[in-house]
Amino acid sequence: MSGDISRIEPRSGAAFELAEGAVLEVVDLEGGQVSDLLAYNAKDCREMISNGRTFDYEETIKLTAGNTLWSNRSNPMLDIVHDDTGMHDFLLTPCSKATFRHFYPDKPVHRGCFGNLAAALEPWGIEEDDIPCAFNVFMNVPVDGNSGKLSVEPPVSQAGDTLRLRARMDLVIGLTACSAYASNGGTFKPIGYRVE
Ligand SMILES: [Zn+2]
Repeated sequence: MSGDISRIEPRSGAAFELAEGAVLEVVDLEGGQVSDLLAYNAKDCREMISNGRTFDYEETIKLTAGNTLWSNRSNPMLDIVHDDTGMHDFLLTPCSKATFRHFYPDKPVHRGCFGNLAAALEPWGIEEDDIPCAFNVFMNVPVDGNSGKLSVEPPVSQAGDTLRLRARMDLVIGLTACSAYASNGGTFKPIGYRVE
């Protein structure tokens, strides 16, 4: 990959357009940091990334290089073309004020990835109710095979680990440096990204 790495500061977010055929690289700059990723069809933002469609067509919840992320209209949106960690989550929704009140009642409320994504995506007319389950890059959510019990564990990503995705259509991308304590092992770090 060439080109400069853009930096998303801790507990913040960004949005940008990604042309069909372009590759987006998400970089865990310091290690152990989650990044929530959303994708919308740039020509009609009512078409968006869908975890359910993706699990259906890919026949797995453990998505890595070789897998595709699909839209709610059953079109391929992003191909995962490189994956250093092989550990991501597509089950859980972006952290929000409500999830902070639920899980961290003794800590200050933060607008979380949900609020950061809504703010970053506003210029494209995307509203809070248009935000689906994000693809949570580097998030470590093991699922017990028998009970189905979920847990949120610290990421296993190391500093410099990357995930690369190739756009299958013109997209609007939302991307965060996640704000939730458990998702990031209790510390908040930046996320890097670049487009080629
Ligand atoms: Zn988050």
